[in-house]
Amino acid sequence: MASTLFSPKFTLAIAAASALWIMLASGEDHAVKAVGADEALAKLKAGNERFTSQPASKGRPNAARRAEVAQTQHPFAVIVACSDSRTAPELVFDQNIGDLFVIRVAGNLVDDYGMGSIEYAVEHLGARLIVVLGHERCGAVKAALAAPTAPGHIGALVRDIQPAVQATADKAGDKLALTVHANATAVAAKIWKEAHLGELASEVKVVTGYYDLDSGVVEWG
Ligand SMILES: [Zn+2]
Repeated sequence: MASTLFSPKFTLAIAAASALWIMLASGEDHAVKAVGADEALAKLKAGNERFTSQPASKGRPNAARRAEVAQTQHPFAVIVACSDSRTAPELVFDQNIGDLFVIRVAGNLVDDYGMGSIEYAVEHLGARLIVVLGHERCGAVKAALAAPTAPGHIGALVRDIQPAVQATADKAGDKLALTVHANATAVAAKIWKEAHLGELASEVKVVTGYYDLDSGVVEWG
């Protein structure tokens, strides 16, 4: 389909994509003053404390905050969370729009898209803390414990959680909770090993958390 590939429309699309990439890769992004990993973790801990101790959040999006971040974003942390509807990081950490760069996949897994998103957030947006957030009674981990295969694309999820299943095979206790922890640890290790962070790696921390659906508390690994 050469005629399609070289159509004016396609050429325009390539030009636009190139311009975007040049913009993203420009030195301007590196001028961002990053929030350090330790400070970012303290902000998340304080946010979760607010979430669990106060009857309502004060951090919901509003017009002023929307305007503040409409043109640029400097999220202070990357959160790799499960798609589970009860674990929205912005809510459980009591943060606003523009605060967190969130990757959500069932079982809080990271594929190439997720890894690229992490690299982008660190290199171009100034994030220095990466949190892998597992949670109580995770359905994806439960499915992976039940069987190593599953129909359709769910099979990919249970397949990639198997290392955690194997890691807890001989352990006594709450098997689901143990495997959720092991999975978050494995994903964090994968990020640390595979993410291309360059010289920024010395500033980056990767930590794990475990969200308790009943209490709302995040335990830190
Ligand atoms: Zn889950």
